[in-house]
Amino acid sequence: LEERVFNFAAGPATLPAHVIKKAQAELYNWGGSGMSVMEMSHRGKEFLSIIQKAEADLRALLNIPENYEVLFLQGGATTQFAAIPLNLVEPEDTVDYLVTGSWGDKAFKEAQKYSKPKVVWSGKAEKYTKIPSFDGLEQSPDAKYLHICGNETIHGVEFKDYPVARNGILVADMSSNFCSKPVDVSKFGLIYAGAQKNVGPSGVTIVIVRKDLVGNAQGITPVMLDYKIHAENKSLYNTPPCFGIYMCGLVFDDLLAQGGLEEVEKKNKKKADLLYNAIDASGGFYRCPVEKSVRSLMNVPFTLEKSDLEAEFIKEAAKEKMVQLKGHRSVGGMRASIYNAMPLAGVEKLVAFMKDFQAKHA
Ligand code: PMP
Repeated sequence: LEERVFNFAAGPATLPAHVIKKAQAELYNWGGSGMSVMEMSHRGKEFLSIIQKAEADLRALLNIPENYEVLFLQGGATTQFAAIPLNLVEPEDTVDYLVTGSWGDKAFKEAQKYSKPKVVWSGKAEKYTKIPSFDGLEQSPDAKYLHICGNETIHGVEFKDYPVARNGILVADMSSNFCSKPVDVSKFGLIYAGAQKNVGPSGVTIVIVRKDLVGNAQGITPVMLDYKIHAENKSLYNTPPCFGIYMCGLVFDDLLAQGGLEEVEKKNKKKADLLYNAIDASGGFYRCPVEKSVRSLMNVPFTLEKSDLEAEFIKEAAKEKMVQLKGHRSVGGMRASIYNAMPLAGVEKLVAFMKDFQAKHA
């Protein structure tokens, strides 16, 4: 383990070391099959056992009701920005977007090609540091769904509870907080997430969709974006990202072994508290711009009061094997992504480093 760094990247991101080791041990000859998962037929019994276990474990983790499909797709969450309106509404339908950061904004913009989206609220003027109160939220009377981004990866803004969509169909991008805490799936029409932050490598996109919403795709919908095609074929309509799904399965298994998402959330809260407290207790040396009540447990953006020291902070941290702390190019500063697989020791080391750095430069 000594040769590994603490990787604070936003995604692709750190995975549990023992999961990587398990994959390594199984790489050459998976389960006595005489081949690696990369070389198997996606229709063979070995791979079928892998994808079925991955789905069953994810259902157990999130307590996914029977009336929801679980799909393992490709194309990233970005493809879902188009697939969602294509599958759920007609071109003339109104749909609502609550925009709390750049990802929600991208989803809104893509939806303009396939529907008539409206922004019901945008945090842009306040640099995406807030989530509005749901009481005052003016949803369109005829909106077919309400879209939110559960956790804005760049801005570090996370929903702690959820608005109720007028017609009951709440759609959420959970790419960067998927499986980081329990979620009541029955409150959503659709949840989607790219795997590469909390649950696996890039290349796998998970869609959890209520069954009654499947089967009404617009005529122009490519087969690869049609949920009905993938649901009927159990995510095996075409060749799926087999190795990626296998890796997600190893992570799901590990999350269950940790005691499930209640336990995982406790660990994530502890890590996030430690880091936010260090920022808030620094007397302004470090600052987090996000309103306290909606600060993300996963992505912690912060700046230095003396902003000319930021490059040095990032460089010095990297020397101590804490890497990828640079903020997104659109916001600058720093960002520590502390997903499920970031150990407490990584956050403790970062906090100790921050105190030292402040002492040197105060
Ligand atoms: N939504 C969120 C919240 C994200 O963090 C990302 C990726 N950083 C995306 C969507 C886009 O995902 P992908 O790159 O998998 O298309």
